[in-house]
Amino acid sequence: MTEGLILVDGDWVASKGGRTEEVRSPYDGRVVGQVAVADVDDVETALAAAERGAAVWRETPAHARLDVLMRAAALVEERADAIATLLSAENGKTITEARGEVGRASDMIRLAGYEGTQLYGDTLPLDANRGTGQDKIGFTLRQPCGVVVAITPFNYPSLLVLHKVAPALAAGNAVVLKPARTTPLTALALARAFTDAGLPAGVLNVLTGPGGALGDALVSDPRVRKVSFTGSTAVGEHIARTAGVKKLSLELGASCPVVVLPDADIEAAADAIAAGGYINAGQVCISVQRVITHPDVHGDLLDALVPKVRAIAMGDPSSPDTRLGALISEAEARRVEVALQAAVDSGARLLTGGERDGAVLTPAVVDGVDLDAPLNQDELFGPAVAVTTADDWQSAIAYANSTAYGLGAGVFTRDVSGAIRAIRQIDAGVIHINWTPLWRADLMPYGGLKASGIGKEGFRTAVSEMTEEKTVILHGRPW
Ligand code: NAD
Repeated sequence: MTEGLILVDGDWVASKGGRTEEVRSPYDGRVVGQVAVADVDDVETALAAAERGAAVWRETPAHARLDVLMRAAALVEERADAIATLLSAENGKTITEARGEVGRASDMIRLAGYEGTQLYGDTLPLDANRGTGQDKIGFTLRQPCGVVVAITPFNYPSLLVLHKVAPALAAGNAVVLKPARTTPLTALALARAFTDAGLPAGVLNVLTGPGGALGDALVSDPRVRKVSFTGSTAVGEHIARTAGVKKLSLELGASCPVVVLPDADIEAAADAIAAGGYINAGQVCISVQRVITHPDVHGDLLDALVPKVRAIAMGDPSSPDTRLGALISEAEARRVEVALQAAVDSGARLLTGGERDGAVLTPAVVDGVDLDAPLNQDELFGPAVAVTTADDWQSAIAYANSTAYGLGAGVFTRDVSGAIRAIRQIDAGVIHINWTPLWRADLMPYGGLKASGIGKEGFRTAVSEMTEEKTVILHGRPW
């Protein structure tokens, strides 16, 4: 129904240039679907439609917006299995993970919808200002930003689209969504649920096609008041330079650490790392990339971890028995393979994994990786963890903080005072004690420090960031 079409002004239409392209499975190369290749002319019509949609939606009462979102949530729930099958096919992640991801979708829309009904303001105690009496009333009022541009990456094609679209719509904005070029089909299926739920024309528009050309035209346009981007730090920096005076949320790259201390439950830590480093083939911004452990437990941790990593079942992503599917492309798998080999060439030891077949890479553990090595410092985005040792709390925290990034961190310890020190001193947007960074409740504030970005998602925070605050003063007398 949406095959080869974009969503503009409430209609599913061909792109102006009439071009389409195939979306293929990274696992076996089969064609999963066709999408339109939009260009800058489509950006113009989408933004014009969004401006009209924003005017209508902003005048729609919060309870009526909530009704539409609740209907969309129900439709997504009904269609979850079909959407998960599509997602797994276009992305290469296992069907089990795809079902888990899409299984969160309807609650995400409901929770965001609720937050859109909670646009409270403050009453201002103006009489505390010297010279001001009781003859004025001041308060704040929240209103939607207007047109929101949402740009999303390939790795969670349902989750990350909904973390933007659902709060933006809940708060009364119109959206132009530009999903990742490799995984547009899930985004289109989700958009269909919103239009079928009765969202007015122009309130949600979806353009598929090249990120650079569409992205630049969308992000730089003065009609857009807010850009919400999730993707690489390089593109995020480019957007920050291009956007001009706009509200920006940037959810960017990472190299997340896990610190394992001698008093930790080593078996539990190994279990968590064997999941947190390899879910979604390691293509998660909060994936465990770096394991920093004390020399006293280094050997025990590796003895526990390596067999668990070797036991990860690989294969066809559509099989329920598969735990590790394909990376997003053969080129990406090759890039990760090269990064692992470079670490080995510099003296690190590959304890398991790292063998590539097309877009599939066996899960790897690399030990003895230098703190300054690219495998620690640069985002890997693949199924591997790099292990380093640190002699005490102080150096473990310094190692955790040693990269440009600051998205998530995990610390395994039974020492409460040490944990509190880590919570205060590790520069990461989300810190987990006795778990890895790979954990997210969709309602929690979520976002990075340093090169990992600016702004927070999570529905209450996202709705707040997708609205603007006005201050209103009622004057009972002049001055
Ligand atoms: P990417 O930066 O290559 O692409 C992300 C999106 O940006 C895509 O839709 C792409 O088409 C678009 N894009 C490309 N050039 C653009 C431009 N000039 N202007 C505007 N948009 C443009 O990222 P990816 O490879 O799809 O995803 C992987 C990256 O995303 C990793 O770095 C990962 O850490 C990051 N990520 C971060 C979070 C987070 O919450 N911090 C979550 C998921 C992924």
